[in-house]
Amino acid sequence: MVQLKEKSQQLSTISQMSAGIAHEIKNPLTAIKGFLQIGAANPELRDNYQEIILDEVNRIETIVQDFMMLSKPKSSIQLEEVELHQVISYVKRLLEPEAEEKEIKLTVESTYSDEKIMTEPKRLNQILINLVQNAIDAVGEAGEVSIDVKTSSEYITISVSDNGPGLTSQEIAKIGEPFFTTKEKGTGLGVMVSKKIVSDLNGTIEYESEKGEGTTVTVKLAK
Ligand code: ADP
Ligand code: MG
Repeated sequence: MVQLKEKSQQLSTISQMSAGIAHEIKNPLTAIKGFLQIGAANPELRDNYQEIILDEVNRIETIVQDFMMLSKPKSSIQLEEVELHQVISYVKRLLEPEAEEKEIKLTVESTYSDEKIMTEPKRLNQILINLVQNAIDAVGEAGEVSIDVKTSSEYITISVSDNGPGLTSQEIAKIGEPFFTTKEKGTGLGVMVSKKIVSDLNGTIEYESEKGEGTTVTVKLAK
């Protein structure tokens, strides 16, 4: 009986997810098709639509990549010894241009110097990029985002803090649900993917926030 109930819950989750994916991909596809049709009928207008079409194609690509990551089994993780500061500085370098453009202060506070961690750098990068990108999106112009790294003999703790609008407890409960987004151009997949990777790396992820007080996301991983 319990098993049957679980099975039907699983099926309903799968059907909700499929409907969500189909919807999220159909929207940009409809837009692309529409702009291509207008361009075919009015060649002089084509240049105007190139950028929108590329944006929409990029959106589909992100959604598909996120879902591919979700379907990757834990066994596909390839652990290697990585210098922590390399991971952090890679993420910082990647997102610094956007932060600078928006006059956001992006800082790294740390007590580590040559700490090493056994992890898969690509997956760890993806977690941090998602979290720092969300912090940048949250603060908007002239905000502050900081990445704090702490290490102990067994763990590393990476926190991403921002002074953005924060989250209510209802929002915190929803964060990481597929397609939960409050952004006009959001996909609502970033946190879900990050949670899945953290769990595959046997770590934990925690959101702390109050409305109006900013947000801190803490990822704890075994060394
Ligand atoms: P997306 O970024 O595409 O919206 P995510 O899964 O990355 O999807 O985030 C889901 C939602 O969680 C965001 O739309 C936003 O409402 C909320 N969120 C995530 N991080 C923060 C943050 N640091 N501050 C405020 N809200 C956040
Ligand atoms: Mg995001």
